[in-house]
Amino acid sequence: MHLPRRQFLTQASAGLASTLLAGLLGSVPGCVPARSAMRGQLRGAGAKLGHLLREPHKIPAPTHTQEVDVVIVGGGVSGLAARRELHRLAPSLRTLLLELEPEVGGNAAAGHNARTAYPWGAHYLPLPDERDHDLLAFLEEAGILTGYAPSGLPIYDETALCHDPAERLLLHGHWQPGLVPEAGVPAADRAEIARFLAEVERLRRTTGPDGRDLFRLPLDLSSANTTVRQLDQQSMADWLAAHGYRSEYLRWYLDYSYRDDFGVPAAQVSAWAGLHYFAARKGRAHNAPADAVLTWPSGNHHLADNLRRLGGPGRIWPNAVAFGLQEGADGRVEVLAYDGVTQQSTRIRTRQVVLATPWHVSKHLLPAPTAALAPLHAPWLVANLTVDGYPGGPGQPLCWDNVRYGSPALGYIDAEHQALRGFEPDEPRSLTFYWALPTDPGNPAAARRHAYASTYHDWLTLVLTELDLMHPGLAARVQAAELWVWGHGMVAPTPGYVWGPARQQARQPHLGGRVHLAHTDLSGVSVFEEAFHQGLRAARAIVQGAAAS
Ligand SMILES: Cc1cc2nc3c(=O)[nH]c(=O)nc-3n(C[C@H](O)[C@H](O)[C@H](O)COP(=O)(O)OP(=O)(O)OC[C@H]3O[C@@H](n4cnc5c(N)ncnc54)[C@H](O)[C@@H]3O)c2cc1C
Repeated sequence: MHLPRRQFLTQASAGLASTLLAGLLGSVPGCVPARSAMRGQLRGAGAKLGHLLREPHKIPAPTHTQEVDVVIVGGGVSGLAARRELHRLAPSLRTLLLELEPEVGGNAAAGHNARTAYPWGAHYLPLPDERDHDLLAFLEEAGILTGYAPSGLPIYDETALCHDPAERLLLHGHWQPGLVPEAGVPAADRAEIARFLAEVERLRRTTGPDGRDLFRLPLDLSSANTTVRQLDQQSMADWLAAHGYRSEYLRWYLDYSYRDDFGVPAAQVSAWAGLHYFAARKGRAHNAPADAVLTWPSGNHHLADNLRRLGGPGRIWPNAVAFGLQEGADGRVEVLAYDGVTQQSTRIRTRQVVLATPWHVSKHLLPAPTAALAPLHAPWLVANLTVDGYPGGPGQPLCWDNVRYGSPALGYIDAEHQALRGFEPDEPRSLTFYWALPTDPGNPAAARRHAYASTYHDWLTLVLTELDLMHPGLAARVQAAELWVWGHGMVAPTPGYVWGPARQQARQPHLGGRVHLAHTDLSGVSVFEEAFHQGLRAARAIVQGAAAS
């Protein structure tokens, strides 16, 4: 049976990885099977500990009791931002953060090899909006924003601004600079791409009748204009069709962009979110162009770690899974936590709780969840490869972000791009591959099941086959491959999610105003800025509530 590599990848990534591979591995011409000598392993978020929530009878009853002022459940960016804000506004409050993983960071996790740190998830922050004083203040405290120019524009640490060259696209066998398809693209398609980019630029500069930007980050600051918000009811694919956008190059570019930020293509994204993606970013800097991004070898773990560092002395309890929330005596809330290391449970009595967990966890923990929120999360594969050779090719040399036109994957980041030194031509390189796995909105659990059932060997075969299409022969020079599967990557802003009633309802405090929710699932767009502001919103509600009582 002959299956070309492109077809193999498309089928395998469509959720058939394990079954397809089981039958065809080694007999597919062009697919590059993983070598048994490869160094590496398959990891993932602590699904085993997390899945205990579904089987609470397996968790031992609490044998200890503790008391604190605020419990934060979840040490992703939202939970860490809440902890820092509580420390900033009310340093006398005793906080305790429970995190089921051995380390905080959530999706902004990182690892390292002998050469460099690398991201396991979130890896960059576009230049923030100058009006986002809270975010700028944090970046200044973290030493990432180093000052302000006389014009008032922020100056960023040069080592954090993504160095040139930033992006390249393998199109028609040639690496072109930038990700918008250009090289060899017919004039009619180029004109359509230009028309789309001009339209989103117009929207980027437009304010609604309420004086607010039509699209803004955090997204709750966007205009409440009904006509614009109604765009949330239709899919981006339908909007494109209705506006006469047919170019396959434009469609590919948009699908790629949405899969990269939301995990799903234009057909599964609302038109409001699809336009917000392009029209909400307004960042500027004194020492970088407006489209610059901030990035670090460890990706956004650098930001998460700074949030942790600036969060005060409150205890962070790793390997601790919250498995219950209940009314306690004296108006307190009780959080039940199981320690995966000591295998003991503790009852934590507290005045206030920040639930900074994804909705599928929060709805298990809340005694009476009221909202019918149903976020779609695509599974993701992230692969960190050590390659004994330079990923070159005709055209633009290696960039920070490297993408293949038409690929079902999302390309790779050069994890050593920000290193302040030269490289020998044949020196090993560390590449971080990203792959949002296709998900059927009608049956999202199926993609997750496939993802969890696929083996290291299955995934590696996919990644090596993709690498070989980008750089023929390079797959044979991969020395090590560390893989990570996110069962629940990030929330997709599907039609109706962002401005539908369920999201608003889910954000309401619970247990008489003592439990506040904070997570990017409650935003609908999973980016650092949203997570950061989710945390601030919850922390401020607690501090304001305390001041009022
Ligand atoms: C592969 C990938 C790439 C991404 N790239 C980018 C990027 O480049 N830039 C960007 O801005 N964003 C990116 N994102 C989005 C990223 O998800 C957000 O930016 C942000 O990190 C989400 O933070 P959060 O706190 O809302 O959620 P999470 O990161 O989901 O944090 C939730 C935390 O709660 C913990 N938890 C869950 N249940 C329990 C429990 N019962 N008890 C205790 N703890 C619990 C989890 O372990 C986790 O640490 C990416 C996401 C993925 C998956």
